[in-house]
Amino acid sequence: MPGGTDQTLRPFLWRAANLYPDKEIVSRTHEGIERYTYSEYDDRTAQLANALEAHGIEEGDRVATFCWNHHRHFETYFAVPTIGAQLHTINPLLPDEHIQYIVDNADDQLIFVDDSLAPKLAQAAADAPEFEGVDFVVMSSTETETLDATPYEEFVEGHSTEYDWPILDEDQPAGMCYTSGTTGNPKGVEYTHKMLWSHTMATLTPQGIPMADEDVVMPVVPMFHVNAWGMPFTATAAGAKHVYPGPSPDPEDIVHLIEEEGVTISAGVPTVWLGLMDYAEDNDVDLSTLDTVIVGGSAAPESMIRWFDDRDVELLHAWGMTEMSPLGSVSQLKGGLQDADYETQLKHRKKQGLTVPGIEFKVIDENDEEIAWDGEEFGELWVRGPWVTKEYFMRPEANEEDFEDGWLKTGDVVTVDEEGYIQIVDRAKDVIKSGGEWISSVELENAIMAHDDVAEAAVVGVPHEKWQERPVAFVVAGEDADTDTLDEEIMDLLREDYPKWWLPDAIEYIDEVPKTATGKFSKKDIREEYTDGSIVEGSVPEEAAPDDD
Ligand code: ADP
Repeated sequence: MPGGTDQTLRPFLWRAANLYPDKEIVSRTHEGIERYTYSEYDDRTAQLANALEAHGIEEGDRVATFCWNHHRHFETYFAVPTIGAQLHTINPLLPDEHIQYIVDNADDQLIFVDDSLAPKLAQAAADAPEFEGVDFVVMSSTETETLDATPYEEFVEGHSTEYDWPILDEDQPAGMCYTSGTTGNPKGVEYTHKMLWSHTMATLTPQGIPMADEDVVMPVVPMFHVNAWGMPFTATAAGAKHVYPGPSPDPEDIVHLIEEEGVTISAGVPTVWLGLMDYAEDNDVDLSTLDTVIVGGSAAPESMIRWFDDRDVELLHAWGMTEMSPLGSVSQLKGGLQDADYETQLKHRKKQGLTVPGIEFKVIDENDEEIAWDGEEFGELWVRGPWVTKEYFMRPEANEEDFEDGWLKTGDVVTVDEEGYIQIVDRAKDVIKSGGEWISSVELENAIMAHDDVAEAAVVGVPHEKWQERPVAFVVAGEDADTDTLDEEIMDLLREDYPKWWLPDAIEYIDEVPKTATGKFSKKDIREEYTDGSIVEGSVPEEAAPDDD
């Protein structure tokens, strides 16, 4: 018989509602700023639970969301899992056919959708058999034009603010998220109550992303992307104030919320912060309440860390994956580095960091050997821990590829330094295998993007008869760039830091680097669009031969 004190989500909300009843939850919506307290949140969550039950949702059923970050979306975060159903957050930026696939694969019964995203969902659902029998609730008080959906306020209205929460097994699935596949369909990851509980507790440790009850927490990272890195759960467990930035917030909205609500901790991908930095150059911006900015999803540039340091804001670089609920490592400084000089600290802080307590890892090279922790050798990162998934949802073929002896093979190629700091150097599928050696596409990209006249650069390996693969750089030139001389300038820049066999065989200019649904460079699309997978034309310049050095 499972016990009520097992590792489930309900006690986090119980504590916040009873210990911090007046603490606020603030949300930017189409109707303006809305705010209420944990106590009201608790009531509305119970109403939603009753409404779900009245709608016929039962333990084990899947309920999906297609929403930005706001208070109603947050209500589903606790209501759905704590009645024993499973919350499936759908990424609305996915292409229609992926949305159709995951709604069918997850067997969603009901979808909560934002008014502004309803046209996109309606388009994916039109004539799609995958959507048969799926009901919709639109996240507002009024109907939407594009979908036959019940308005949320009508859905919950009149239901009791009391709910007899069931005692759940900690292994009961609570959440679900699909990882955007680089090939084939997205892969589903299920989060049990125990996974989300342990992820929350590890996040709250000083080695994670600690939060206190006086914090004001604003996840800019979307709630459809691995539960906004778990922040709605951690902020609730801590009894902190929540701030949700609503539909597609721009830098001005983000700055405004920081200033008006006194945000102390915020989190998002690098592009969010690049936008804010740009905005701050031309506008008067007050970041004085902000203590910590969490940057993850892709690498935080060193210049960004320095920019925030200059404004007394600590940038914590975090690494994780959908498969890890998502937190894996954070660039917290070890005790022994607290007194080191700034540049030494920065050397560690710009890496993806130390694994959080509860996560074990090893790094395996091409010969199936563990690499040395010297900051030089590369290998693939394997991880395991309580909040790391052990399989994909109904995808046996993917399981075989990505899991081994209880380890998740992350597909990230990393180095580990003497202190144990992990640094991502590439994705396993993007690392360029040239003449038996590995070239980091990410390093080359960053080096190329350091040129003032380069807006974006993506480097991919193209097949080569002799060397197996060779790097080719796809560059988006800046507005004032002179592409006649840019090639040579880029090559000169690379020659300064890299052996000659790392230098790209060719530089191609393109208008834009294609992006994935999560905003990352899509190397797959570049390969498809520009290289057609064939052997690169022309031969490697003699100077680029891998075993020359
Ligand atoms: P996807 O982007 O493929 O949908 P995820 O959101 O799960 O899937 O992304 C996980 C991947 O994002 C990691 O395996 C890693 O390659 C990359 N990533 C996450 N955080 C960082 C970081 N701080 N620095 C560099 N890469 C990161």
